[in-house]
Amino acid sequence: MRVGVLALQGAFAEHIAVLEKLGIEAFEIRQPKDISKPFDGLVLPGGESTVMKKLLRKLNLLEPLKKNIENGMPVLATCAGMILLAGDIEGGEPPCFGTLDITVKRNAYGRQLGSFVCTENFNGALIEMRFIRAPYAVRVGENIEVLAVHDDKIVAVKQKNQIAVAFHPELTNDTTVYNLFIDMI
Ligand code: GLN
Repeated sequence: MRVGVLALQGAFAEHIAVLEKLGIEAFEIRQPKDISKPFDGLVLPGGESTVMKKLLRKLNLLEPLKKNIENGMPVLATCAGMILLAGDIEGGEPPCFGTLDITVKRNAYGRQLGSFVCTENFNGALIEMRFIRAPYAVRVGENIEVLAVHDDKIVAVKQKNQIAVAFHPELTNDTTVYNLFIDMI
């Protein structure tokens, strides 16, 4: 099992460390030649979605990765990654991959005081969730499974092969979110 982690910016190293701890071969995706060999899953990390979006386009990674997602490759997207997948971004900003049928609100908890930790139900398990200038979903399509809600806001969703969470599972010791992703692969 090989999992590619988008490594243009943000918290990619932390994802790679967790995957390796779980015994999974993880590699960095920085340019098109990195995805020339077959792989089984994709992680889109947290960071700054506007920066990643620009780089994805500039480095010719947007179209090939989008094709992988559309062809059913399992994807785990965290925080900014959730924004990259979203079909709609509140405020009119154009989508990046646009493969996930949700509308996200960026920096939804406010820009400065938007970081907090809570314990919440994720798909039936109580887990610690770390939010850092996180988004949440303000609309989800009919084909979306809601995996977690915090303060009445949708913070984790699944649509077929795509899992998106507004928090940072790579910053806690709980691997529940990864297990769901790995089971899908
Ligand atoms: N605020 C960031 C954005 O809008 C996301 C923050 C994160 O990934 N921790 O892209």
